[in-house]
Amino acid sequence: MKKFKFSSRYFSALLLTVLFLLSNNPKSFSQTNEYLTTESRKIHDQFWAADSLIFDQMMEGTDFQTPVFIFDSKIEGPAVLIIGGTHGNEPAGFEAAHRLLKLFFSNKILKGKIFIIPESNKNAAYKNKRRIPVPDSVDKEMGNLNRCYPGEKNGLPMQQMAFEITRLIKKENISLVLDLHESPRYHLESVNKKDEYHGLGQTLIYTVNERAVWLGMVAVDFLNENIPQGIKRFTLVEQPIKHSCAWSAGENFNIPAFTVETCRKLPLEERIEYQIKTVIVMLKEEGII
Ligand SMILES: [Zn+2]
Repeated sequence: MKKFKFSSRYFSALLLTVLFLLSNNPKSFSQTNEYLTTESRKIHDQFWAADSLIFDQMMEGTDFQTPVFIFDSKIEGPAVLIIGGTHGNEPAGFEAAHRLLKLFFSNKILKGKIFIIPESNKNAAYKNKRRIPVPDSVDKEMGNLNRCYPGEKNGLPMQQMAFEITRLIKKENISLVLDLHESPRYHLESVNKKDEYHGLGQTLIYTVNERAVWLGMVAVDFLNENIPQGIKRFTLVEQPIKHSCAWSAGENFNIPAFTVETCRKLPLEERIEYQIKTVIVMLKEEGII
C-alpha cells in the first residue's frame, strides 16, 4: 500500500492559503463574531437581527455599515449617545456597548433616549486594529475614526462615518456623548514622566463645560470608590485630542462629551465593568435611569 506523504511543499502551500484567507476575508470574522467574547457574540446575534431596536444604519449600503440602536422612554428628557469600537483594538469599549444593549433592553429607562453605536469602526474591530488602511498618499490617521471629526460628507470612509455621527448628534439633540476607549498604559504611571508616551488608561477626558466637569467628578468618585490608592485609580483629563469625537461634540455643540479610557493592562472583564459603570453613573446623574 502506498503511504500518503505529507510533503513540505504541499504543507507550505496549504499554510499560505489559510493565511491568505484569514488576512483577506474580514467578512468571515464578522460572520463568526470571533472578535467578541462569547457573551457579546450572543448579544450581537440577537440584537443585530432585532429591527425594532435599530434606529438607523450609519453608512448604509457600504462595507462600513453599522447599526445605531435606540432605547426611547417616550418621555421628554436628555438624549445620550454611546459609541463603542471607535478603535478596533480597544475591545472593552465595544464589549461594554454590546452588554449595555442587553441591559437597557431588560430594564426600562425612566426618561429621554439612549442611542448606542456599538461598532463604529467594525472593520477595524474585525482585525483588532486601531485604524483601517487608507491610500498610501493619505495621512494614515484618516483611517482613525477619532481623528476625523466633525467629518466630511464625501471624504474617506472614516471621515464619512464621523460626518454621519456628527449629523446624528445635531439632528437628535444629543446632550451627552460617551465614546468608549482603551489605552495601553495607566495615566498615573506616566503622568510625571515628560519624555515618554503618556498613557491615558483609567481616565475620563472631556471638553471643558460646566456640565462635563460635574459629570466627570461624580463618575470618577464613583469609579474610585472600590479602587485602592495607586495608579489604577481614575482621573479627569481636560481637552480630548483635536478631531476626536468628544472634542468635536464639546467644541461644536457645547455638550458634555467624554473619551472614556480603561487600561488594557487590566483583565478584560474588569475593564468592561469600568466602562459600564461609567455609563451607568452618568445616566443616573442625568435622571435617565
Ligand atoms: Zn482609543
